Amino acid sequence: MKPIIGVMPLWDEERNSIWMIPGYMDAIIRAGGVPVILPLCKDETILEQLVETCDGFLFTGGQDVSPVLYDEKALEGVITCEIRDMMEGSILRKAIDQDKPVLGICRGIQFINIFLGGTLYQDIPSEHPSDVEHHQHPPYDVPIHEVEIVRGSPLEACINKDHLMVNSYHHQAIKKVAQGLNVMAVSADGLVEAVCMPEHKFLWAVQWHPELSYKVDSDSQKIFNVFVEAAI
Ligand code: MN
Repeated sequence: MKPIIGVMPLWDEERNSIWMIPGYMDAIIRAGGVPVILPLCKDETILEQLVETCDGFLFTGGQDVSPVLYDEKALEGVITCEIRDMMEGSILRKAIDQDKPVLGICRGIQFINIFLGGTLYQDIPSEHPSDVEHHQHPPYDVPIHEVEIVRGSPLEACINKDHLMVNSYHHQAIKKVAQGLNVMAVSADGLVEAVCMPEHKFLWAVQWHPELSYKVDSDSQKIFNVFVEAAI
């Protein structure tokens, strides 16, 4: 049996609708997993059963994590999704307790960091300005900035490189890294772009978007491969 990967649903406020970027699903399938879009839901009984059923969890991109969760007031332009914050907090707690693999992407790395006690830059252009382009324009499968891979990190072992060009589409980033997380990649302007939790069977998160570049970039697909392998 292939591992079942629960994928956090994307939420479209305007259309009152959940949706999905196909790359999240397709990259999991290519990695040998069975992706399932989870319902947007905060019912504890349902979430418990979903965590029982799934072998791993993908924390997708999306709205900003509520700054209330790290004791800050939201700056202008910060858009949140309360139900995702609640649902993902519950699933992440259970996944960590049950040692089930987790991969976070974009909002995913930010949410995991907040959940474990870290903080964020709420808005990179106003709080951490630099020449590095973190908010690129299409096409999104084209790498836009470099990251330095931390020596000896699991990411280095996975892709066997000390520098990597990545795409970038984010206006927030990790400020204070949560206790229990190790940095795996940093951009030239000092932003944390990948972390892992060494205590956990497999918990990785990246700030870039491998789900938009896996078709043209084998290093992007490798991240999904090691994640799905850990869920077998
Ligand atoms: Mn970036």
